[in-house]
Amino acid sequence: MASMLHHWIGGRPVAGRSGRFGDVYNPALGEVIARVPFAGADEVAVAVSAAQAAFPAWAATPALKRARVMFRFKALLEEHADELAGAISREHGKVLADAHGELARGIEVVEFACAAPQLLKGEYSDNLGTAIDGYALRQPLGVVAGITPFNFPAMVPLWMAPLALVCGNTFVLKPSERDPSASLLLARLLQEAGLPEGVFNVIQGDRVAVEALVAHPDVAALSFVGSTPIARTLYAAATAAGKRVQALGGAKNHMVVMPDADPDLAADALLGAAYGSAGERCMAISVAVAVGDAMADALVARLAPRVAALRIGPGEWTEAEMGPLISREHRDRVAGYVEAGVAEGAELVVDGRQRSVPGYEAGFFLGASLFDRVRPEMSIYREEIFGPVLCVMRVPDYESALALVNGHLYGNGGAIFTRDGDCARDFVSRVQVGMVGVNVPIPVPMAFHSFGGWKASLFGDHHIYGPEGVRFYTRLKTVTERWPTSLRAGAEFTMPTVR
Ligand code: NAD
Repeated sequence: MASMLHHWIGGRPVAGRSGRFGDVYNPALGEVIARVPFAGADEVAVAVSAAQAAFPAWAATPALKRARVMFRFKALLEEHADELAGAISREHGKVLADAHGELARGIEVVEFACAAPQLLKGEYSDNLGTAIDGYALRQPLGVVAGITPFNFPAMVPLWMAPLALVCGNTFVLKPSERDPSASLLLARLLQEAGLPEGVFNVIQGDRVAVEALVAHPDVAALSFVGSTPIARTLYAAATAAGKRVQALGGAKNHMVVMPDADPDLAADALLGAAYGSAGERCMAISVAVAVGDAMADALVARLAPRVAALRIGPGEWTEAEMGPLISREHRDRVAGYVEAGVAEGAELVVDGRQRSVPGYEAGFFLGASLFDRVRPEMSIYREEIFGPVLCVMRVPDYESALALVNGHLYGNGGAIFTRDGDCARDFVSRVQVGMVGVNVPIPVPMAFHSFGGWKASLFGDHHIYGPEGVRFYTRLKTVTERWPTSLRAGAEFTMPTVR
């Protein structure tokens, strides 16, 4: 019997009342394990008004005290790591070690948020003009909302909420309807950590809830992470409604392998970066650009047997390297890309479509596939597949590799493997992506830097978390101040700084 999930509003669980629900699956079993309510606009309004009511007191709470909630939250996340990782793995399908890894990356943002008093320190100028001082401070925006994707049900909410909260905002999270349980655990732990009621709320749902958040006049800012078509539409609608928006979209990340790179190290890097989490990562490497046929042959020879032998199984199998995909439809869509690649003339070196996991035949498993001789005009290259499919492309030289990366629609991450420092430096300087790895396949910035892509991978001006996150979740106020000593001269008709 599938359990019924709920919203979290004003510090307590709230049952859905729209009458619309979605099924939450265990993708390894292919079975429905829970039902999630889909909020209507009226329920979204209740969550926003709870957040709005909590805002004045929370904004007036010293940053030091807001940070102390995060210290306790971090400890609670660590204490409940098994419970959280279990919920992530059960509903998403990723292997448990990977679920723990996602949580660790989220906790790093909580650690960064613990520095709130330091992060929110303003600027001060003594004696702007005679006996006139000036200072600048950063203040919270109000109610801010986060809309998150299925692939990191804990980490992506943690990219947003800790910083938004320590900056003095109140928050409404609309998590992915495919794996919503982690968000409810986060809400409960924030409450246990001492967060006042209404400061963090979770509203479950689909596009109806998202559109209600976009339209709501009391939502000051939106952070979105998901696919590019939705990111683009949401950015246009929410900025037109006067909101501040950061909307992170899809990706097609390239790894350029230069002829001087060590092929063993590059193959190792590709294996984890392409097939980890079944390729359902926005920073997964989905294209290996081999410079020279010799490097391409060396990579394919090393990858092929290992790709075919990847251990696939349910998340709780400790030996599993890859879990199932998120849904039957997505599995079929990814398999459709494999078929399309063959039809378009790419060389299918490893075909994962026939793999199945004994005892889990109804699960949404798909084996790993490897393509060689992929061409730029093929759909498997142009589009984000978001599954366990790696495309190897062959180019004659470095400039062709760079042109390929820079010609792509997406610009999230990218990497180069080489022993040549000059070449790496040129790549860092000229590549048109937001996050670059040099001999690092998945260059996800640490919590004290900021995460974000370029081009169709991010709409908005601010990257997420880190110093950019603080800027996104605050607005600047600049104060000019004088006291009676400098006012005694009487009325003035020139600017005081001129004297
Ligand atoms: P998605 O775009 O389908 O969903 C994201 C969120 O938008 C969910 O909360 C969903 O409920 C909501 N949504 C779905 N349809 C909507 C609609 N028509 N209108 C308004 N809201 C809607 O993405 P997903 O499938 O959950 O996640 C995978 C995608 O996210 C991939 O494209 C991946 O690259 C991207 N992603 C990007 C990053 C990044 O940092 N750039 C990180 C993680 C995932």
